Amino acid sequence: MKRNQIIEIYGTDYRRMTKELLAKADLRSHLPGKVALIGIKPNLVCPSPANFGATTHPEIVAGLIEFLQEAGYQNLLITEGSWVGDKTADAYEYCGYRELCEKYHVPFFDNQKDRWHEIDAAGMRLKVCDVVDRVDFLINMPVLKGHCQTRVTCALKNLKGLLPNMEKRHFHQMGLHKPIAHLASAVRPDFILVDHICGDPDFEEGGNPLVRNCIFAALDPVLVDAYACKELGVDVSDVPYIGMAERLGVGSSDLAAADIIRLNSTSEAKATPPLSEKRVLEVSYAADECDSCSACYASLIPALYCLKEEGLLEKLPCKIAIGQGHRGKTGLLGVGACTSGFDYNIPGCPPDEDAIYEGLKAFVTR
Ligand code: SF4
Repeated sequence: MKRNQIIEIYGTDYRRMTKELLAKADLRSHLPGKVALIGIKPNLVCPSPANFGATTHPEIVAGLIEFLQEAGYQNLLITEGSWVGDKTADAYEYCGYRELCEKYHVPFFDNQKDRWHEIDAAGMRLKVCDVVDRVDFLINMPVLKGHCQTRVTCALKNLKGLLPNMEKRHFHQMGLHKPIAHLASAVRPDFILVDHICGDPDFEEGGNPLVRNCIFAALDPVLVDAYACKELGVDVSDVPYIGMAERLGVGSSDLAAADIIRLNSTSEAKATPPLSEKRVLEVSYAADECDSCSACYASLIPALYCLKEEGLLEKLPCKIAIGQGHRGKTGLLGVGACTSGFDYNIPGCPPDEDAIYEGLKAFVTR
């Protein structure tokens, strides 16, 4: 396939669809020699089953593995590191990857346990897991979904799973967008297979899946993310890392010049309910967010929804401080270990959703 192409397929038999899509995209012509180590990078951000809208469907990975093994590629590796606050090992279990790996005899590599080294990413020093250098051909398998901080997450941001936890935290300190773009300039997947089955349009950790029943293949991660914006009804300019990656030469966001090939009808996708409201925006005004880790902020937003539904959110007398930018500072109300100096603090790193909800409710009703 060509770099300006996106090839998509609709349906509900995900394993079969994947194999058909890979044949049409002519993945074989892109593969290196048969002894090469092929790295498969799904999204296992947290221990949440794929139908919740956060993680890559194992059926799609199964289709990819079958395609590769039938083509004579036996040297395969699934590689991923969950977000800070969850263990990859738990996601491996809960998301069906243990069964997958055992069935196909493909090893799983937990990047949270890997060693790391520094790289120069277009002038930015970044720590990446050593596995990045071990694989010869990297297949990126993101979930197309929303993100409560960056609005959209897909091909570019999925590469964060190749970082050690300390660098993931550092990314948040740097504001996420710029380091995501720089990482993409240095770590360039060779093929992209996007899970657009039922990604949550609001939250990285899922819970509100939006069924699309689509899988698509592409080569350009910038084009993929621009297309993800279109699918989620978000303006590309509202996701700064896409333009930053484009300016660093990672790819093109020009959808007008893209060749979008649909292999079948969207009617095969069955249920396609309308896009949900942008729920994050309804409550995020209550937070004073500064460089918070994804897991921390993602726990806060649902807690705010519960408070909103109970009519308590409007009763907060101040904004809720959250994030690494508040470290060492003081104030009235803060969530997470980074705001331990605040008068009223909900502890944890990250604190869970229930603890935040209970803590905020106690604060409002005291
Ligand atoms: S408390 Fe601070 S360091 Fe811990 S998860 Fe939250 S933002 Fe990140």
